[in-house]
Amino acid sequence: MADYPFEMGPIRPVDEADSLLIRTTRGCPWNRCEFCTLYEGFKFSLRPVAEIKTDIWAAKDYFSGHPFETCFLQDGDSFVMRTRELIEVLACLREAFPGLRRISSYGRAQTMVKKSPEAIRQIAEAGLNKLYCGMESGSEQVLKKVKKGITPESIIRSARMARDAGMETTQFIILGLGGKELSRDHALETARVLNAVNPDQIRLLTIGVKDGSGLSRQMADGAFTLPSEAEMIAEQRLLLENLEGITSHYANHHGIDLLLEIRGQLPRDKGAMLAVMDGFLDMEKKDQDNFILGRRLGYYRRLSDMENTMNRVFVDKQLDRINGACEDLETVFHSLRTQVV
Ligand code: SF4
Repeated sequence: MADYPFEMGPIRPVDEADSLLIRTTRGCPWNRCEFCTLYEGFKFSLRPVAEIKTDIWAAKDYFSGHPFETCFLQDGDSFVMRTRELIEVLACLREAFPGLRRISSYGRAQTMVKKSPEAIRQIAEAGLNKLYCGMESGSEQVLKKVKKGITPESIIRSARMARDAGMETTQFIILGLGGKELSRDHALETARVLNAVNPDQIRLLTIGVKDGSGLSRQMADGAFTLPSEAEMIAEQRLLLENLEGITSHYANHHGIDLLLEIRGQLPRDKGAMLAVMDGFLDMEKKDQDNFILGRRLGYYRRLSDMENTMNRVFVDKQLDRINGACEDLETVFHSLRTQVV
């Protein structure tokens, strides 16, 4: 990362690639999710408002008049700030960058429900008009198993407060997060919560279990069984099939996702997105394996890319090599997948 004269946190949502990044807090105030190692060993802290404001003006100088239209507040949860202080930071941001039309942040459901609807409305009016929420699942069982520290009720309440305050909302879902054990509950309960929330965007991510994470220990203990790539597409099919009466934009959009062509506007594109999944699920196992490996090695992006005979034959030879070495294919796929993040 470049050496900026202001602080920068480690991540931002994919959709914020062109945004100004301003760090309001360091780390994550929860930091206990079983699948997350992002802030491992890192102590959460709130930054003093004066320090954040100094950063905002330093960013203005550094980017010398660049007309940013969007800004993302880092790190894991800006709503943990006192409402008055967050509003002060937002006012400073808008003064320094008057062209901003969108200011966004992650917000933990459990933090947000501690604020009143009036406080959320004041924050929205001060300029924070987009909320990213990592709900990950709508299943109470899954949320408990991965120690997410939020409940389906708090997800629904916080998202509705944000929407009623005029914020745009994005919900992130992690495919495979319930393991084979809770896959069905994960799909159906996630659909139920999304139907109750009707977020502007639904973004799917695919599980990749990191070494040293709580989930990897659950795997070793036999409490969590990683679903296969095909099982996660079937899980996603069940989820999408059960999304009813909502108008969200739905997308697999991260490099870790297998079928990046699953994206569209609900309800209009639901049939087309289900057809993409069926196209994959109806293939013979050897063709599914060819696509998965080709996709993970970067030879394919869409299912139709398998029509390139040279690439297909090359990928088949790689499959033969893996099978010949008696390596477990799903383990290889998972290993390739986790290299993306
Ligand atoms: S709330 Fe988000 S950043 Fe914090 S531990 Fe969980 S997944 Fe990681």
